[in-house]
Amino acid sequence: MRELNKQINEELFSQYIYEAMAADLWDKNFKGMAHWMWIQAHEEQAHATIFYNYIISRRLGVELEAIAKPPVTWASPLAIFEAAHEHEVHITGRINYLMELTRAENDYATVKMLDWFTEEQVEEEANTDEAAKNLILVGSDGRGLLMIDREMGVRAFRAPTNPYYTPFYAAAGTAAP
Ligand code: MG
Repeated sequence: MRELNKQINEELFSQYIYEAMAADLWDKNFKGMAHWMWIQAHEEQAHATIFYNYIISRRLGVELEAIAKPPVTWASPLAIFEAAHEHEVHITGRINYLMELTRAENDYATVKMLDWFTEEQVEEEANTDEAAKNLILVGSDGRGLLMIDREMGVRAFRAPTNPYYTPFYAAAGTAAP
């Protein structure tokens, strides 16, 4: 389905924009936030992999499109996390739209697969909103900013629990490239 393929691109663009944000945060000397955002980007790559593997499993035909260019720089860490939250709200809208389409088509397997993303999006929106709200709280206070930066620097990558995260070459019993 075309819209499912488009979601691979949406998730890869998410990875791309979060990598741009990570680079900008690093340039702004917020290395903990940059680390957090890099982990976020890595998670998006995993989301793209889930759609990719699902489309392969269903024999729906993977079709990859060009990835759009993200912005290079933002005004502040707050502007970055507000933009990240807005982006997650957009992604939630995409997942809801896909859910509507697949329900209308009685495509129950895809509804079940998408259900994992509806839960994931609650977390994605909450995490980016919390970061933005904490940044509003400290404003331009240097100590507050450094404290947030340190806290965000300890985030670890957790592989998604979604069964379609297993790469197709692993499912096929062959070695990873
Ligand atoms: Mg995602």
